[in-house]
Amino acid sequence: MFKSHLRWITNLPRVKPFYAVKCNNTPTVLRMLSALDTGFDCASKGEIQLALSLGVTPDKIIYAHTTKPLSHIKYACAHGVEMMTFDSEDELLKMSLCHAKAKLVLRIAVDDSKSLIRLSSKFGARLVSVGKLLERAGELGLDVIGVSFHVGSKCTESLAFQQAIADARHVFDIAFSEVINGALDEFFPPDSGVQIIAEPGRYFVESAFTLAANVIAKRVVIDDMDEHCDSEASPKRMMYYLSEGVYGSLSFLISDPNHGKVEPYLHRAVESSEQRYRSVIWGPTCDSTDKVTDNYWIPELHVGDWLLIDNMGAYSVCLSTDFNGFERAHIYTVVTAETWHAFIKPDRPRSTPVV
Ligand SMILES: *Cc1c(COP(=O)(O)O)cnc(C)c1O
Repeated sequence: MFKSHLRWITNLPRVKPFYAVKCNNTPTVLRMLSALDTGFDCASKGEIQLALSLGVTPDKIIYAHTTKPLSHIKYACAHGVEMMTFDSEDELLKMSLCHAKAKLVLRIAVDDSKSLIRLSSKFGARLVSVGKLLERAGELGLDVIGVSFHVGSKCTESLAFQQAIADARHVFDIAFSEVINGALDEFFPPDSGVQIIAEPGRYFVESAFTLAANVIAKRVVIDDMDEHCDSEASPKRMMYYLSEGVYGSLSFLISDPNHGKVEPYLHRAVESSEQRYRSVIWGPTCDSTDKVTDNYWIPELHVGDWLLIDNMGAYSVCLSTDFNGFERAHIYTVVTAETWHAFIKPDRPRSTPVV
């Protein structure tokens, strides 16, 4: 168990485990996990009682059954267990009756077809009903703090997790819009006669552009070996000079101090066995602040290779300059045939699909 715990925190450092007590409720198991500071997923009054009796504090418990007897909810409430799951309007009503301060987690149904034991036919709200449920929770003054799912037991397909996590993100986005819609309905109801507009920028374009930058020059630096040098690491340090930099479409690296590191990736698949080198990636100009990223570990690149950077549509090309005589990036439009026919009428006078 200790090794499993280590493996978990090493591989999923951002995911705090809440052990599902139903799987094995031997007190030694719970004591051991409690000492390792895990949380506990309890499904009934009995399991909550057991965990509490072993010294687990209520903030480490999630009451993770979506259909709970009233008496068990009251027990959780009386003992300070606040986090609990729900997947229906009726469960919300029970909560508002017995545990109005509960911190609710909405369980969604996800694709569990790749699992040995499937659960989504019994538990979990469908994505289409999420908006309605969140709205109802709002009306009842209940606090929804998160989303949960179970891909089924013995799941053999990692993509099932990917899709389920994407679905959970979708619920957060819906919740965000529910708050806005709720406030609008309260302060500017539809019959108020006020027309509401918004001016989204980043929302529409950020993910629509990918920057392809060309490696125009390269320099290999051999660092001096000294006693601090890790003998395993190669002393070779790569310097690449790209066709784009902070005076081009990457100007947000300078103007937005909170912007994280950009992570250019290779145009081709990278094998995990490939040797990687510590690399510095510079922009093309003579200015020493024109640096794209530092201390970046990638396989060796060659002049002429392409590096790609995603999500480059917002405040990028519009802010680029031709400082030092380097041309601004060209923009190539790629549309699917479907989109082309649906939105860009061939009979409308237009120059060319490539701008
Ligand atoms: C049973 C259960 C788990 C644990 O499932 P395993 O397949 O044993 O990992 C997790 N969450 C919920 C809600 C469960 O009912």
